[in-house]
Amino acid sequence: MGRVYNFSAGPAVLPEEVLREAAAEMLDYQGCGMSVMEMSHRSAVFQKIIDDAEKDLRELMNIPDNYKVLFLQGGAHLVFSMVPMNLMKNGVADYIITGQWAKKAHAEAKRYGQANAVASSADRTFSYIPDCSDLPIDENADYVYICENNTIYGTKYHELPNTKGKTLVADVSSCFLSEPVDVSKYGIIYGGVQKNIGPAGVVIVIIREDLIPEEPAVENTPTMLRFKTHADAGSLYNTPPCYGIYICGKVFKWLKKQGGLEAMKKKNEEKAKILYDYLDESKLFKGTVDKKDRSLMNVPFVTGDAELDKKFVKEAEAAGFVNLKGHRTVGGMRASIYNAMPKEGVEKLVAFMKKFEQEQLEK
Ligand SMILES: *Cc1c(COP(=O)(O)O)cnc(C)c1O
Repeated sequence: MGRVYNFSAGPAVLPEEVLREAAAEMLDYQGCGMSVMEMSHRSAVFQKIIDDAEKDLRELMNIPDNYKVLFLQGGAHLVFSMVPMNLMKNGVADYIITGQWAKKAHAEAKRYGQANAVASSADRTFSYIPDCSDLPIDENADYVYICENNTIYGTKYHELPNTKGKTLVADVSSCFLSEPVDVSKYGIIYGGVQKNIGPAGVVIVIIREDLIPEEPAVENTPTMLRFKTHADAGSLYNTPPCYGIYICGKVFKWLKKQGGLEAMKKKNEEKAKILYDYLDESKLFKGTVDKKDRSLMNVPFVTGDAELDKKFVKEAEAAGFVNLKGHRTVGGMRASIYNAMPKEGVEKLVAFMKKFEQEQLEK
């Protein structure tokens, strides 16, 4: 079987070129006589891999010098805990609830202090981003937390919330490196890499240095959950996810070759437009979120008939378009069209949808 078009929300499609390179280097990484999986994380060879990865990421995102880049483990879920444990000095934080991931981060913060839900789009199944221009931000809030791209629901903040001067913390797992960002607007920007960057097992945290406390806000925070531990050790306090970091590094180089994040944004807009334009004209399929808040990365859609949705997913899979089943809380379908999904994957999917629609109308 050849390669399929993989629309998985995560772990997700990676650039074929990166996979081929990794395959070619599997047995002998650049003359070392061993694979990256087999080498010491204290070796000069690995040090160069992680240094290059950081350098390329800094270049791609234009990360200011007063931010640290950390390559950690435990996924976005562990960062849900690390953020309040390290940052909640006043014991207060404000959360904007736009879906399951923000909700889970909020629930975690509640363990350590007063975590306010200052806005939510739960009333309409998270199908929009609430107005965040004038929120009741707590004057003691240590930070304001958002999930910038909502993987499950397919919404994205196209404008950052007005935090009234408070530090912004953002989970960007599913929009990481999909378009340029102004890192200086955030205190922390972080995400698991398995959506848009690399293999599961790495989470990247970009954190402003003054937010890395000598002593975390929560007493007895384990060593591994202190940002300082990892910042001081250059992400090598303990054995890092070496192979994952190596693949991320290759993806950074691939992105640079594509023209960087401006170019990716353009490509991602083109790809998403093909799908959204069709959803807007289709008589069978429709998108599930408010147009102004649509994500470029995750596109949920439905027919309105659960049986028909099922039939579509099944037939699409047989035709080589896989992982289109929507999240159980939304139903229907979801096409995740991350950086590594080629434009022809989206074009062919839309052609397949049109054919399916035609067949239904002829019935
Ligand atoms: C997938 C996802 C997570 C969960 O990531 P884990 O690595 O499984 O902890 C959190 N936030 C967002 C936005 C996601 O898409």
